[in-house]
Amino acid sequence: MKRFAAIVILCLGMFFFAARIHAGDKPKFVPHVLAVYTDKGEQDHIDFANDARKFLSDLGKRKNFTFESTTHWEELTAERLKGVQLLVWLNDFPHSSAQRKIFEEYMANRRAWLGFHVAAYNDESTGWPWFVDFLGGTVFFGNNWPPLPAKLVVDDRADPVTQGLPAIVNAPANEWYIWKPSARLNKDVRVLLTLAPENYPIGLKDTITGGDCPVVWTNTRWRMLYINMGHGDKIFTGAEQNRLFENAVEWLLKQR
Ligand code: ZN
Repeated sequence: MKRFAAIVILCLGMFFFAARIHAGDKPKFVPHVLAVYTDKGEQDHIDFANDARKFLSDLGKRKNFTFESTTHWEELTAERLKGVQLLVWLNDFPHSSAQRKIFEEYMANRRAWLGFHVAAYNDESTGWPWFVDFLGGTVFFGNNWPPLPAKLVVDDRADPVTQGLPAIVNAPANEWYIWKPSARLNKDVRVLLTLAPENYPIGLKDTITGGDCPVVWTNTRWRMLYINMGHGDKIFTGAEQNRLFENAVEWLLKQR
């Protein structure tokens, strides 16, 4: 009987020891970020995409997420996207209605999206009303040329995406886009940074002469953020702006 009791105590001890080890060793969830990028077309868009891939890969090592990138949209199946917490479009967008559909379903599952620069391009020829609505009902209207640095007003310095930024951000050279109507007019949109009026007129060959020009915003109906930067090889040369990119990724990866 004594031996039986000793065995029971030993077994219980081993059970609780194993349970504690198990609890202590529970692996921390590591989010996965997948970027789809362009390696064709405008060289300035390719340069940005390559710089962004390096930035995100380095950020993943510091902030504990895994990072992969591809140029092959056909790899972005619904099955593959199940393992993706944040999908990033680096100057590219879906090439077929099937790819658009998969993205719509991905977003409907409360996954996160981060789009840069021409990734959000849409006009009357694009024919994807779902995406216009997703972006906040705003349509590409014009751009400045050549790419130029600009001062950006931080609309909401209390937002997680703008944490640590000064009231005015000095942004390195970019081709800035203006959209009509402004995304700010949509009640579900939160604009985070806007081209400062003192930049106007901005451009030489193509000029943005005025108007409300949000450059970073989220449509709060989705886990999404659009960032207008993404043209050329200067984008990651500004410490303030890099902080913004880092905040953006961290915010989007946060489980809600
Ligand atoms: Zn561009």
